[in-house]
Amino acid sequence: KSGFVAIVGRPNVGKSTFLNRVIGQKIAIMSDTAQTTRNKIQGIYTTDEAQIVFIDTPGVHKPKSKLGDYMVQSAMSALNEVDAVLFMINAAEKRGAGDNFIIDRLKGIKAPVYLLINKIDQVKPDDMLPIMEQYKTALPWKAVYPISALEGNNVDELLSGLIDAM
Ligand code: GDP
Ligand code: MG
Repeated sequence: KSGFVAIVGRPNVGKSTFLNRVIGQKIAIMSDTAQTTRNKIQGIYTTDEAQIVFIDTPGVHKPKSKLGDYMVQSAMSALNEVDAVLFMINAAEKRGAGDNFIIDRLKGIKAPVYLLINKIDQVKPDDMLPIMEQYKTALPWKAVYPISALEGNNVDELLSGLIDAM
């Protein structure tokens, strides 16, 4: 099994931390210049049964300029080339304009979208319910995973879920 997976979310939600954890625990042999058509390959998660190529899409955020606008367009069309998209939010923050901007852009894509509620180590279990309510019907999520990219909670479950769906 193999597939390309893109990760999106507003700045500081923990995308790089997540990628470092996933790629860090398995081999990631990549040259700096490795690229898909538009996006930087962050690394490859490899097991005996599967290989997931993770792609960073830094262009997917609310643009502040014409150039930014162009970059968002470019990043969004790249999302139509992947097998799955991970949309990451911060469990400790309310849904905001930056999240809504990305959600609106994800509405038209073909790939299944997973909701990753990150930084669960920073919230009490009961405080998870309101945030899940806020996002529940935002998109037809393939699956929802509360995780901690920093501490690793539920990251293996997410990876198994991704592989099972491939
Ligand atoms: P990015 O901008 O989405 O790539 O976010 P980063 O990965 O750079 O993370 C932003 C900040 O959030 C850093 O200080 C991380 O250490 C912190 N962070 C990321 N994931 C977690 C998490 O699961 N729990 C906590 N407590 N902090 C996290
Ligand atoms: Mg980052």
